[in-house]
Amino acid sequence: MYEPVIGLEIHAQLLTQTKLFCGCSTAYGNPPNSLTCPVCLGLPGALPVLNHEAVVMAAKLALAVKAKIHLRSLFSRKNYFYPDSPKGYQITQYQHPLATEGHLRIAEDGSPKTIGIERINLEEDAGKSIHDGRPESSEKTYLDFNRSGVPLLEIVGKPEISSPSEAVEFLQLFRTTLQYLEICSGNMEEGTFRCDANLSVRKRGTQKMGVKTEIKNINSFRFLQKALEYEARRQIELIISGKTIKQETRSWDEHQNKTLPMRSKEEAHDYRYFPEPDLPPLVIPEKLVKRIKTTLPELPQEKIERFKQKYKLPLYNAKILSASRDLADYFEKTAIASKNPKQSSNWIMRDVLQYLKEENMEISQFPLPPEYLAELILLVKKKEISLSMAKEKLFPRMTSTRKRAVEIVKEEELSQISDPCQIEKLALKIIKRNPRSVQQYKGGKAQVLSFLVGQVMKETKGTANPLLVNKVLKQTLNKLK
Ligand code: ZN
Ligand code: MN
Repeated sequence: MYEPVIGLEIHAQLLTQTKLFCGCSTAYGNPPNSLTCPVCLGLPGALPVLNHEAVVMAAKLALAVKAKIHLRSLFSRKNYFYPDSPKGYQITQYQHPLATEGHLRIAEDGSPKTIGIERINLEEDAGKSIHDGRPESSEKTYLDFNRSGVPLLEIVGKPEISSPSEAVEFLQLFRTTLQYLEICSGNMEEGTFRCDANLSVRKRGTQKMGVKTEIKNINSFRFLQKALEYEARRQIELIISGKTIKQETRSWDEHQNKTLPMRSKEEAHDYRYFPEPDLPPLVIPEKLVKRIKTTLPELPQEKIERFKQKYKLPLYNAKILSASRDLADYFEKTAIASKNPKQSSNWIMRDVLQYLKEENMEISQFPLPPEYLAELILLVKKKEISLSMAKEKLFPRMTSTRKRAVEIVKEEELSQISDPCQIEKLALKIIKRNPRSVQQYKGGKAQVLSFLVGQVMKETKGTANPLLVNKVLKQTLNKLK
């Protein structure tokens, strides 16, 4: 039996205001080439100046993944020609990266596992080539340099991942970590978070690594899973049929659902790295690292653990509720205000998330503040309204009107009738109205009771407490003997 050995390389665009080596804005979606200057256009003689904000953000990540920050690191030139990289090289880090030897823990539910991070580099992004393949445009390529010089973190993970689903879990946790640190939007569609994956296979239980292939530019978790599954299968089949695996760069074709080799021209790498002569060594004062350390937020893994302990949530719930800082805050505020973490978790995981999905919204746009949801939970707890009433009527009414639950209950007289005397009166009314059903019931047809309960519920527009109606009706019917 064979097993895959997987390593990920991640590129994360930093949320700085300006580019890595010039003062141009990093904003997304502006007219092509409107955010450029001689530095990021690579004009001769223009000199780079390092953006301090990017260094702070890089250090944040390094601390969060417990990597060793090197107080002195170097920038290098990675030489290659590409139309969207007008300098003919990329400024990156090579021999002396900013940080090395970090890790993230995954799979807390099954067998927890630590995946190593080899290095974290600070580097600049390239521009964008836009290929217009329409025959009438004679297949032109346009160049947009707005992205040229935008700061990136390049994170090289160790080949310690042993399945496609583990790779997805690692990448998801990594993205959440960046988002918690507020240093990357993690938007895969806009390409601010992307990954390359390398994969080889080996006989289970052996240590010797097989020949690896690299899959470039994966921009969704689903594609990562599918591409790795396909590639592992492809390599195993090659080995079994006695063929050799070629070390190469491949890309995922989402239409054909397979990985395909990229043109060999694009993989002929001889980057001739050398130290960037226009930039001094990057020196980070130890004091600054200490200060950054004090600004770190609670990280996803820590939050999940705390939610499990403090609110007695199952791991599954704790994970989902910690998917973003905003969602976690929303849950926590609701849990505290309602003094009912379990119901808060249930409501948010079902009704709130469902609503957000349907409306295509983020939790920050959700119309109800946590206190409102907490009030709704309390009304149900105090049995002033039934759970079904809360779910089917109140919640939708609250989200559409942004009103508090009590207001709507008052306006629409929705409050649950749970006064036995009042229900008895109603029961007698219904009994009088349905003599035949009563006779059937007396004659032993017990299921008629639910019909009568339904009649009382209908009479009260669903506001009576159904359990109580059931009980009172039974008693009243039996008294009729
Ligand atoms: Zn610029
Ligand atoms: Mn890179």
